[in-house]
Amino acid sequence: MNLILLGPPGSGKGTQSKRLEDKYKVVQLSTGEMLRAEVASGSDLGKQAKGIMDAGKFVSDDIIIGMISNRVDQDDCKGGFILDGFPRTVPQAEALSQMLKDKSLKLDHVIELEVDDEAMVERICGRYTCAKCGAGYHDSFQRPEKEGVCDKCGGTEFVRRADDNAETVRARLRVYHEQTAPIAKFYSDLGILKSVDGMADIDIVTRQLASIIG
Ligand code: ADP
Ligand code: ZN
Repeated sequence: MNLILLGPPGSGKGTQSKRLEDKYKVVQLSTGEMLRAEVASGSDLGKQAKGIMDAGKFVSDDIIIGMISNRVDQDDCKGGFILDGFPRTVPQAEALSQMLKDKSLKLDHVIELEVDDEAMVERICGRYTCAKCGAGYHDSFQRPEKEGVCDKCGGTEFVRRADDNAETVRARLRVYHEQTAPIAKFYSDLGILKSVDGMADIDIVTRQLASIIG
């Protein structure tokens, strides 16, 4: 099963992808995480990407498509994948269609998480992840059972993204509406777009997704 989750930053794409991974044995492909891994490793690509990402802008299409294409070829993607944070522009969506066609793969569902922008700043500014296993948490909406200890792996170190501050979030939301929102129409014209209410509780959103995916 190959899936795209669409929605602005903070809409819950990462949170839901992690849950779907466990449930459907698919792999979450987060271009943001891939790029942040490049930045952390200090690779040439990482250095290039850092300045662009710090400004809340997008990295070039060729870089991203190449990165996704390599990733999809790896063995763990055989059972399917969830694209989280990609495509971000209509040209990327077109390039993705071509790439999948070349690999004889298809998209089963494109699901949009519908949310209110105002709520996204609070969600993003409160989010953090376990440094060891990547499990996601939130200061108000999703705290670990035991304060300071990861529910999944027992890790005690947590990280926050450098670009998760109110100012950058507003810039990311603006760019989202200008460039990414038109993608919904692209997929609805292809007849594969579905929407869920991303303002609902995390568990309810998961249930809504499961009822679409089956
Ligand atoms: P995205 O990957 O779309 O940027 P995340 O999955 O990282 O968004 O979610 C952003 C933050 O909001 C996280 O801290 C997450 O725990 C929290 N969150 C996600 N979905 C919901 C929800 N339905 N209700 C409340 N908080 C949520
Ligand atoms: Zn952990």
